Amino acid sequence: MKKTTSLTFPIAASCPACGLLCDDVILTSAAPVDLKNACAKGITFFEQSFQTGANESPSIAGKPCDLTTAIRKAADILSKSKSALFAGLGTEVQGMRAIMRLAEETNATLDHMHSDSTVRNTLTMQNGGWLTTTLAEVKNRADVILAIGTDIATSHPRFFEKTVWNTESLFNKPTPEVIYLGVPAEKTQASISPNGTKPTVIAADLDKIPEIVNALNALLVNKKLKAETVGSVPVTTLLALVDKLKAAQYLVAVWSASSFKFTHAELTIQSIVQLINQLNETSRAAGLPLNSGDGDSSVNNTSTWLSGYPTRSRYVDGKPEYDTYHFSISQQLKSCDALLWVSTFNPHPPPESEAPTIVIGHPGMRFKYEPDVFIPVGIPGVDHTGLMFRLDSSITLPLKKLRDSQLPKLSDVINHIEAALLSTDKVSLD
Ligand code: SF4
Repeated sequence: MKKTTSLTFPIAASCPACGLLCDDVILTSAAPVDLKNACAKGITFFEQSFQTGANESPSIAGKPCDLTTAIRKAADILSKSKSALFAGLGTEVQGMRAIMRLAEETNATLDHMHSDSTVRNTLTMQNGGWLTTTLAEVKNRADVILAIGTDIATSHPRFFEKTVWNTESLFNKPTPEVIYLGVPAEKTQASISPNGTKPTVIAADLDKIPEIVNALNALLVNKKLKAETVGSVPVTTLLALVDKLKAAQYLVAVWSASSFKFTHAELTIQSIVQLINQLNETSRAAGLPLNSGDGDSSVNNTSTWLSGYPTRSRYVDGKPEYDTYHFSISQQLKSCDALLWVSTFNPHPPPESEAPTIVIGHPGMRFKYEPDVFIPVGIPGVDHTGLMFRLDSSITLPLKKLRDSQLPKLSDVINHIEAALLSTDKVSLD
């Protein structure tokens, strides 16, 4: 498993630090990290990834061991398990494919670390469908961007540069107007266009968004509201917003399910979808749900195409089952008899668990309690190649290998655990 490739700078790379997966990033030096075209979030990701002093040795209960021994121990834990939880799942397509095979072999439950957010979108889509768009459509067609409860730029810093202000669109269209609903004015500065055009900001508390979106839906079909304000927003302001939405040639409503931390946020997302549907009766409108990160789009797409379900699923005798409540990490931690935690992009440690714990992940991970097994693996897009879905799930982009590394790939480690489960004689990684 030794990697011997020599790399020469500059290297063109895709950045996996957010769902935009910018593929114009250029690494000109690794020590110190020097990048062209990356935003501050991307730079932080690569600096953290290239940090020296990371833990490259596998361990059992905190004691260093060789990789084969760690894999045998992990296989031993899983072989005794009847209700394993595979959680975190911070990985890319190839890593998830391997995890799915192991889950099928062990009847494990699967949940991604950001599923609390993703499920809000999934429930909406499953309930009545939705009409969403791609980043290319935003670039080529959008004339109004309505950002609901998210400033967009904090989680996806180059969104405006790459799509909204991008003058290389297919059609000669004006720069879209940006309207923020329920976002503090001080967080909207990143959307001021290069020519100085400021966004329209409709201030409101985040937890008032449900009633405001419902009011917009009512006003859109000419219902009268017996109130002067909704969620502290004057109805006259909402009426003016409805006029803008109706006049748009191609409205894109953007939201981030991870910002909607209020109860039954899926109902608010349904209301946004209803707004989009109503606007489509007379013009064109589409949604753009932002992802939460750590490979969530890649993991859920891979899971869906292999089993028919996104995560919060499990295999029972080779058949997949799906339950957004019972198969969550928090519920499964109450009863699982083994935990396999995966986090390869970031050093997110596992949640506390009474069950034997196997951690496969970022070499910089640190623990409050040493897991039974820790296997540091390569960071996708830094130590090895990979594939990731962009946030709009319309394409996958290749991740590059950017340095020589002794760290194994997650998919190789998982495949060897599977082999060890099937035959204790098959494990040899040298
Ligand atoms: S916008 Fe996202 S993908 Fe692009 S460089 Fe920044 S963190 Fe990386």
